[in-house]
Amino acid sequence: MRKIIRAEAMGFCMGVERAVSIVQKIADEGHRNAVTLGPIIHNQQIVDKFTSLGIPAIDSVDEVNEGRAVIRAHGIPPAERQKLEKKGIEIIDGTCPKVIASHKLVKKYSSMGYRIIIVGDRNHGEIKGLAGYADDFDIVGSAEEASSLNPPDKSMVISQTTIKESEFESVCSVLKGKNSHIVIQNSICSATNDRQTAVIKLAQEVEAVLVIGGKNSANTKRLYLTVTEMNVPCWHISSAQEIPREIFEYDTIGLTAGASTPDWIVDEIEEKLKR
Ligand code: SF4
Repeated sequence: MRKIIRAEAMGFCMGVERAVSIVQKIADEGHRNAVTLGPIIHNQQIVDKFTSLGIPAIDSVDEVNEGRAVIRAHGIPPAERQKLEKKGIEIIDGTCPKVIASHKLVKKYSSMGYRIIIVGDRNHGEIKGLAGYADDFDIVGSAEEASSLNPPDKSMVISQTTIKESEFESVCSVLKGKNSHIVIQNSICSATNDRQTAVIKLAQEVEAVLVIGGKNSANTKRLYLTVTEMNVPCWHISSAQEIPREIFEYDTIGLTAGASTPDWIVDEIEEKLKR
């Protein structure tokens, strides 16, 4: 019989769990005049479920003119929050407490005259939110990009919560080499590290791995990358419908899931693999 092993840490993190339960509560209370600002999580099944319950995801604060708006775990820039307040929209804040802590750090150092160097994916909602709290900032996606910066003494480097520790360290080492006075705030969330550490252990124990999560989920993509870098056969799928035929050639299969993947999707996939 095929053996399926789950990673020791996988699936919903605290921030995602919290944001999803906020929207679920609105749905349970029967409110219809509510939207989420962007997909509440990077998981299409969950977004579709809430849309069918009358709580759609909208792309921009400009699209909401009444009712309630839920901020997702990544947070939003303060300017967008002000726009909502001006329109009299009731804000329901699903920003992860760990992301709020990063906002506070950026605000504090920015008010002391520091340039903020944000390490992460410039198109990610969390980065846009963080940048909104800084007066003067740079966004750096890689050590290569960092090499073209000349950070002043009063620079504070902060990370996107979901990037890999090694990516952050390589950027910081380039920046430190340019100016040893810079302040470094590692705000990588332990949920990300726990899932990365667990998938490395898992990939050593199995013949192949399925990484489960939305195709646009940054932390899911990083789990996939980690396994492929270990030269272990690996697929990134978002649902049981996408299970690749080739996986059935293996007797020991590992499962992991990104921070925005609900347990029921993993359960469904495991069931199919066992057949
Ligand atoms: S990964 Fe961490 S910081 Fe991001 S939402 Fe989850 S708990 Fe919050």
